[in-house]
Amino acid sequence: MGEAQVTGGPAKEQNRAIAVSTSEFHEFGCPCCGGIFGRSPISGGDTMLWECADFGTSALIVADGLSRSSIGVGGGANSEAYYPEVVDHPRRGQPVDREKLIADREAGIERGELTRLKSALDLGYGVETMPHIEAHHRSKSQELPIVSAQVEGSPVEVTWFAQNYHFYFMGVKLQNEVPATLLSPLAGILESDPALSGHVNTEVAPPIPNFQKSYHNNEPLTRFGIDCGGRGFLASTAIRYLAEISKVDAGQVLDLCLNKTRYGRMERIDGNAIEFEELLKALQLEYSEASYNANIIGFPEEVFESIAIDRFDTERGGSSVRIKLHDGFPLPVLAVPGEIYVKVEDTGLEPHIPKDSGERGSSQSKSKIITPEIPVSVLRYSDQFSRVAAQVQEGIPYPINAAYQRVWPSAREFTFNTPNVLDAALTAFYFAKVVGPLLRDSKRMAAEA
Ligand SMILES: [Zn+2]
Repeated sequence: MGEAQVTGGPAKEQNRAIAVSTSEFHEFGCPCCGGIFGRSPISGGDTMLWECADFGTSALIVADGLSRSSIGVGGGANSEAYYPEVVDHPRRGQPVDREKLIADREAGIERGELTRLKSALDLGYGVETMPHIEAHHRSKSQELPIVSAQVEGSPVEVTWFAQNYHFYFMGVKLQNEVPATLLSPLAGILESDPALSGHVNTEVAPPIPNFQKSYHNNEPLTRFGIDCGGRGFLASTAIRYLAEISKVDAGQVLDLCLNKTRYGRMERIDGNAIEFEELLKALQLEYSEASYNANIIGFPEEVFESIAIDRFDTERGGSSVRIKLHDGFPLPVLAVPGEIYVKVEDTGLEPHIPKDSGERGSSQSKSKIITPEIPVSVLRYSDQFSRVAAQVQEGIPYPINAAYQRVWPSAREFTFNTPNVLDAALTAFYFAKVVGPLLRDSKRMAAEA
């Protein structure tokens, strides 16, 4: 390998690109390795430049009967281009087995793809899975597998799971019906309408056409398809959320929110009316205190410092969930809908906002100017932020939230505003029982790999 170099320069004079005849190239393959996978970026006259896909080396393939390449190589500041003479193919006597090479390559792609799908499933189920190949689809001229998976004892069956280099599509079947209302933390991936692609199967996994409507009429769901975006991580979060929420008595939760409130039957879920502690108990969420606010406990403590529900968010309306992550755990990409709020000091705006009125005069009235949290979406995307975000991502085994293109990557405190107290409780549930364990497990799995 490495005997052929097209870009010249004095140091590489010995590594002259070799030229072989077209018929020998067909018979014996790439002059460097005998492979057949590569590309020809240039072809001119009777010669084609060939670049080996496996080793990146180059060679010149010259029409039969000619003795010299018509493409010159090696021209540079200190050297003249030269036109290599056709030589005997270095792999004479070792003809290529095209069918075997193609089969091996496809098997390699299939193995790689199965590994990728399996690791998302493993992370979602929290145990090693044994995916079953259901079908194949073609994407970017590659034959990719579509898998299903089932884990004994899990109420979630993955019926269809594949990706097409743009997005992952997952079909699920639930053992117990779950009302759409209890899936609000996944709304970000349930609302989207997956583009029709070879790996989408709307019969096995029908998309939820109008999640908002299903949410409001508590439509029970057992079988549906989810567009999980460009990385398998959102599929993992969905599997684990569905498994956790399946353990909850959904009827009891909805009763508390709509039928058995302090004021009897309600049309809409109201934070004033709901028996908040009863709701937390029904969701099996542990808490240390629950009046207007609740400090949730019982989450992986290496991941979160705190998870708190603010039942009445007087600033923003509705209810909010505040999370504090530990260093080493940036916010991952999530399906939680709505706006994310961050502290001003976690943004580039900090220098423009006075922290303390005392700095500007009377030390008597040292009333703190409240530096409010601001919605991430109002911040302009800056290249500076995205570069730091790319740095922080290194070594983090899961995709980090797009918010890091707008806030400093050191940001670990985030507030999620939700329309009502049930959605807030479910969002806290999502962080405590799904996101926390996933981040912990994905670090562990990355360390083991
Ligand atoms: Zn090669």
